[in-house]
Amino acid sequence: MGSNALQAPRRSRLATWFGGQQADDPRATAASAQAPDTRAIVERQLYDDIGDFLVRHRLSPMPIHFEIAHAYLTGADPMIAGAIGKMLAEEEGLSAQRISDLIAELRPVESVPQALAQLADQLEERLNECIAANDRSHVSARDYGDALDDAQARLETDPVGTLEHIAGLTRAVVSTTRLVETELKQTRRATEQLRSDLDRARAAAERDHLTGLPNRRGFERRLAELMNAPDADRRRLVVALVDIDDFKRVNDVHGHPAGDRVLKFVGNFLASELGPDICVARYGGEEFAVLTNGRSTHDAVMLLDEVRERLGERRLVNQETSEPIGCVTFSAGAAALTDDIARAMAAADAALYKVKRTGKNAVNMASAS
Ligand code: GH3
Ligand code: MG
Ligand code: MG
Repeated sequence: MGSNALQAPRRSRLATWFGGQQADDPRATAASAQAPDTRAIVERQLYDDIGDFLVRHRLSPMPIHFEIAHAYLTGADPMIAGAIGKMLAEEEGLSAQRISDLIAELRPVESVPQALAQLADQLEERLNECIAANDRSHVSARDYGDALDDAQARLETDPVGTLEHIAGLTRAVVSTTRLVETELKQTRRATEQLRSDLDRARAAAERDHLTGLPNRRGFERRLAELMNAPDADRRRLVVALVDIDDFKRVNDVHGHPAGDRVLKFVGNFLASELGPDICVARYGGEEFAVLTNGRSTHDAVMLLDEVRERLGERRLVNQETSEPIGCVTFSAGAAALTDDIARAMAAADAALYKVKRTGKNAVNMASAS
């Protein structure tokens, strides 16, 4: 949310790109339409401004920095422009790290490849530092060895001078070794930090940012983990697909943001009612996936059905308008997990769609597994 003071320079910049007039001046449109070269000039100016922006704020020429500079200078993405304007007004100013944090906040999943690329760069830098430190200690040991050979030859003719020389060399080698040791310690600390950053990036890639639940990728990883566990009892693994009934109507009647809140509510309701031992993930859109471990398919269906009933007892209200949304229900299909994950998911899906065709708001067990 940029203040008016921050938006002012941006607006005048925009005006210059549109032929030196205010953007809301009708002549601006006429100006951009008249001369065929005007557009090229305006684009060239924008290109230069983006370059200046990157140089001024010491941002490397990476696609995300170009995008940020473009969003800020043109105001094309008000959310980013506002956030950057705010950073610029703060004492800390703009930095690659702050941009990366901003993107991670605004687009948790999209930022993952960018975060990983940044981590890979940092890792490479650390490795280079390690190699350089290693080389330095190598060179100093070799020089020391050569000097000792020389000294040995001179020991008989000048014992005192030679010993002093050796003492000096030894001190130098010890100090180089200490320096290398400190550098290696720092590198190890930085590597540990990188590892935890990498773990966080991976967790972000496997989480749905609307509900906070695992996403499909996270669900599939959990599934594979359970399937491959040495003590896995595959006969007692069950997958279920849960789909909110007539969800489109919630969006149509109450708007998309209210739909988002309902999605979040249902996802968290499922997760908290089913408990921590059962994996609940947002599988996509208004669909959730559930994975139970240690229950028969029949018991898993009963459990889900109880949760379905409890959800049906809730009466939801649109928090923004206080209008009643009413009752939200879901349909679900469950299937035992065999060796073939795709087959079990397809069976759960078929069971779900059977419910959808026959009246919704029920949980169905896949007919064959
Ligand atoms: P059915 O009972 O047959 O499942 O009907 P439905 O309306 O739930 O299903 P349909 O597939 O017709 O519509 C699903 C709707 O879910 C359409 C889509 O816009 C909405 N949706 C998907 N993802 C999101 C989201 O992240 N937020 C919001 N607000 N809506 C979403
Ligand atoms: Mg659906
Ligand atoms: Mg639906």
